[in-house]
Amino acid sequence: MMWKTATFSGWGRLPYGTCEAARPERLSQLRAAMTGGGAGTVIARGLGRSYGDCAVNEGGRLVLTERLDRLVSFDATTGEVVVEAGISLRSLLDIFLPRGFIVPVCPGSAFVTVGGAIANDVHGKNHEKDGAFAAHVGWFELMLPDGEIVRVSRESDAALFDATVGGIGLTGIIVTACLRLTRVPSNALIVRERPVPDLDALLAKLHEEASATYSVAWFDALAGGGGLGRGIVETATVSPTSIQIKPRKARSLPITPPSLVLNPLSVRAFNALYRARMPSNGRESLRGYDKFLFPLDSLRGWNRMYGKPGFRQFQSIVPAAALVPLLERIRASRAGSFLAVLKAMGPAGTGMLAFPMAGYAVALDFPNRPGVVELLGDLERITLEHGGRVYLAKDSCLSAQGFAAMYPRLPEFQDVLERVDPKRRLGSTMSRRLGIRGGAP
Ligand SMILES: Cc1cc2nc3c(=O)[nH]c(=O)nc-3n(C[C@H](O)[C@H](O)[C@H](O)COP(=O)(O)OP(=O)(O)OC[C@H]3O[C@@H](n4cnc5c(N)ncnc54)[C@H](O)[C@@H]3O)c2cc1C
Repeated sequence: MMWKTATFSGWGRLPYGTCEAARPERLSQLRAAMTGGGAGTVIARGLGRSYGDCAVNEGGRLVLTERLDRLVSFDATTGEVVVEAGISLRSLLDIFLPRGFIVPVCPGSAFVTVGGAIANDVHGKNHEKDGAFAAHVGWFELMLPDGEIVRVSRESDAALFDATVGGIGLTGIIVTACLRLTRVPSNALIVRERPVPDLDALLAKLHEEASATYSVAWFDALAGGGGLGRGIVETATVSPTSIQIKPRKARSLPITPPSLVLNPLSVRAFNALYRARMPSNGRESLRGYDKFLFPLDSLRGWNRMYGKPGFRQFQSIVPAAALVPLLERIRASRAGSFLAVLKAMGPAGTGMLAFPMAGYAVALDFPNRPGVVELLGDLERITLEHGGRVYLAKDSCLSAQGFAAMYPRLPEFQDVLERVDPKRRLGSTMSRRLGIRGGAP
């Protein structure tokens, strides 16, 4: 295993400069990568699906975990699985869905590792019902900066568990994890789609179907006035019967289009088309889990859609009262993409820096054009004024002050870092930008 100089970008393809990277395949190599390699900080990187700079380490070192991806054990009576943390949710679903088990919390892409899912405590379209990823984790083994591996559970070390969950890799490298998969009766979901004319109707429909496991809304970020928040609400319940699913064939975006292709006119046209294909009373269909949970995974390289300048993603959770000012500001910018998503979120878990909390999560992309950083600053302010928070997995612009105010358990988190990493060997571009731990890379 060799350290190689490489340039990594965030998933939005924003350039983040150069760092050293190693891709260990065995535990001994992982330990060598963690403890060797000279000065500078280290951070783990899974499949790099975070949009911003939490898995980037300009001027420092990255440990790529994707080859530490073995299945260690599985208990079919309880659904308990022990895996190496570099395994992807894609692999877990391919192995276990045909056997009647699903990953209990799936973000919008299956191309994320278990380590990345814990380190961002990811949430899915079932957060209200099932909580976030860490709620289904029994324990994990964590490699500390000195190479020692400790098994961490809520019982053995609650503070280290809660700092690692959503802790963006800053407590160590998760080596293995024990998760509990959920038993499901089939490979399919009964999906209901309902068009809604405005925000009130959207929020009502999101909560209407108490039996639904999953719910999510798409909204038209360019619609204003009485149509603010108009869109489509999707809910899904588990189907008792399976369906035939054709083998997955991912299409690729053939070229990197010029960034001008996505402008308010084309986005408006797309949004109109999207709504027009929906009967006015909605529709119901049987869909495989993949098609419902990971719509973007079928278009490989979709993130190149924004052309060379890339894009910035924004996601925050806010109370209902903040939705109008937030959506108004997004609409006024005329910069919002067609990928505008709103989800109802349940209560927060125990992670000190974990994102999920009660409220509504709003997520969308903005092409990286002049004015976008100012726009994100305004969205940060509106979020903060209403007691909300911005998601670190999606962030590239949050201010250190805004971050500290949104994540009040930061001092507690910093105390854990002082205990497990007193020499400050772990760090990322994000941890320095947000002032989580100062100092050089
Ligand atoms: C299309 C798309 C849709 C998405 N939808 C959602 C969604 O609905 N909900 C949601 O919550 N998120 C969503 N995300 C974000 C994504 O789930 C997270 O960014 C996730 O953390 C990415 O996992 P990864 O393996 O790529 O980790 P990376 O992006 O490589 O790393 C993420 C963080 O995890 C740390 N890390 C990675 N591996 C380890 C390890 N072994 N030990 C310790 N730390 C580690 C890294 O240091 C970094 O801080 C989406 C992303 C995409 C691209």
